[in-house]
Amino acid sequence: MYDQLPLEGMPRRLYSCTPSRLNTWLDCRRRYRFTYLDRPAPQKGPAWAHTSLGASVHNALAAWWREPYERRTPHMASVLLAGGWIAEGYRDAEQSAAWLKRACDMVAGYVSTLDPADEPVGVERVVATRTPVIAVSGRIDRLDRRGDELVVVDYKTGRRALTPDDARSSLALALYAIAASRMLRTPCHKVELHHLPTGEIVEWEHTDESLARHLGRAEEVALEAAEADEGYRKGEHEALFPPNPGPMCSWCDFRRHCPEGRAAAPDKRPWDGLDTGQLDTD
Ligand code: SF4
Repeated sequence: MYDQLPLEGMPRRLYSCTPSRLNTWLDCRRRYRFTYLDRPAPQKGPAWAHTSLGASVHNALAAWWREPYERRTPHMASVLLAGGWIAEGYRDAEQSAAWLKRACDMVAGYVSTLDPADEPVGVERVVATRTPVIAVSGRIDRLDRRGDELVVVDYKTGRRALTPDDARSSLALALYAIAASRMLRTPCHKVELHHLPTGEIVEWEHTDESLARHLGRAEEVALEAAEADEGYRKGEHEALFPPNPGPMCSWCDFRRHCPEGRAAAPDKRPWDGLDTGQLDTD
């Protein structure tokens, strides 16, 4: 997980991470420990239907772009979605079928707004970059070229309406823009959230300064997390990883192992996130 990088005469560990790992550290240190450090990892709760929905839609849209140009039709998007439908987490087959129908309408409606000839630079594209502190990598839903610039596109299937602030403040999208720009040697400042339930596109145009601020923030978080990782290896398994109880605990995969989280927020059924606007992924 770590590479050695000499810095200022001292051996230094390069913190290897995804944006998701950094966000988990910021959200809840106990969940970070459960997710990334405890091995074997604690058993998770049952699958969430909203997560299944998000994964099904993401997979179908990626597969749609891999089809030859003449097969990139709205109908094909529905066919691909139905063929790869993940039914885990739904109440029963009837609920799953109803959501499949909704999701087919959603992806067909979305791709009907796209130009199938406008080939993306990347689909599910893995990008990575490093600084003296972190090596960060992640997978971009779609990377477009518009004029002389790249644009990071992230699909959202949760029902909650999005705002430009969601795009502006996203650490993941900013890091993807930086990594894509460096790897492809092409400027990349714009990040977009494509909200499939409404067809709305929420965008933010970063500056070099705002991207640098995000990267600096990522490095700060990485230094904190790396120090805690080191403590974990020395046997400090509790104090460095306190819980952060709050409403999000209802959706935590590890709440069964966390009394504070269970006390802070009610249990949810695996399909409850479909109707509450729970976001599919970060
Ligand atoms: S239930 Fe809440 S406090 Fe506990 S690990 Fe999960 S997010 Fe953290």
